[in-house]
Order: sequence, then structure tokens, then C-alpha cells
Amino acid sequence: MILTRKFLCQALLEGIAPLTCLKCAEPIPFETHIAGVCSFCVMNWGVFETDMTSITLFRERFYTEWIAVGFRLRDSGTRAILHRCKYGGDPKCIKGLGRWMACRWPPPPKGSVLTPVPIHWKRRLQRGYNQAKVFADGLAEVWGIEVDGGALLRVKHGKSLTGSSRQERGEVLKQTYGCDYKVNSDSRLVILVDDVLTTGATLRACRDILEKQGRKVVGAVVLAMA
Ligand SMILES: [Zn+2]
Repeated sequence: MILTRKFLCQALLEGIAPLTCLKCAEPIPFETHIAGVCSFCVMNWGVFETDMTSITLFRERFYTEWIAVGFRLRDSGTRAILHRCKYGGDPKCIKGLGRWMACRWPPPPKGSVLTPVPIHWKRRLQRGYNQAKVFADGLAEVWGIEVDGGALLRVKHGKSLTGSSRQERGEVLKQTYGCDYKVNSDSRLVILVDDVLTTGATLRACRDILEKQGRKVVGAVVLAMA
């Protein structure tokens, strides 16, 4: 009964205001879009396959056992999607991308938990959400695992690291993250979650913090690789 009502509402909505693809403006049926983009346009995203090539490319930047990666951040189209997820006040968009990715990649090892890379509380207040946490929520929904949004903390409200060298990033990031004092009593394996992978310095800084507390980081998931 509820399903029928949901279906009727959607059919009605589609009639009044048909959903159109953000890229090509063609109408798309409800529930078949990925972040507002039709499946035909998604094919041009540079989506990573679940194979050794993707794993090798990922490991060149952040070496870890288990990985999952969405698409390559290569043109204005994919950059616009990420911008919308991060600054556009559209958490539904990034949550949907989490579900989409979790349908493509097999779930992480048993006994693991998703730990999103944190943003500073001031930034979260401005944006209303942490995009990595919402992305993790979308993944968790499909994979059926838990999200530990409070394990890592961003202690420094730093400037954007875009444009800085690898060494500069590493130094700044060392002092940027901290963790919750309860984190060492948790024996679950950690899968780090972030929206973008650039040099891998952020993931390395987060892993160092957690491993100092005795946690084991066994993998990472990112939506886009720059
Ligand atoms: Zn399209």
C-alpha cells in the first residue's frame, strides 16, 4: 500500500515537473539518476572499474589493503558534481553517490567500520554537514556497516591546501587532525572515507593518528581521484 502510494506520487511528480539531467538536460525517470545526472552522461565521468588498474592507481597515492574509488576528477563536469556535493548545500547528492558506489564495489572486510575524514566544526556549521560523513552514510546504507563519525577530529581550522607542495601538505596535516579519547578502546578495523584523493597526505595523516591509538586501518574509500 505504501509502495503503491509512493509510486503514484512519483508518477504524478514526473508528470508535473519531469526530472532533467543536469548535464544534457534530457528528461530522466525518477530514481534512475546518479546525483541528478542520467546514466548516459555518467558514462563520461571516467568511472573507475573494480579492477587491479584502479587499485594500483589508488595505491600509488595511498598504500592500503582494501580500496574503493568512484570516478576521475578530470573535467568541468565531474568538478561541478563535487562542488555541488561540498559547497552546494546538497547532502542528498553526495549520499546518493555513496549508495551508487556501494552498489558497484564489494563491501569492505568483515568487522570494519567506516571512519570519515572530519572537517572543522566551524566549517561544518557553515556548510551544515561534513560531505565525507554523508558520503559514508550512503555507503553504509548499502553495505550494511556502521559509520563512526566521531573517531577523528579536525583540531585545526586550516586554509585550503590546494596548490601547496607535497611536503608542505604533509607538515600542515600532521597537526591538523586529532582523535576522540575513546577511540583506542574500539577494536574494529578502520576504513577511511573521504570525498577526494589528491596526494594521499590527508589519508596518511588520519591513519597515523588512529594507528598511534592502536587502531588498525585496513582500507579507504574515496569518491573522486584528482
Ligand atoms: Zn544526461
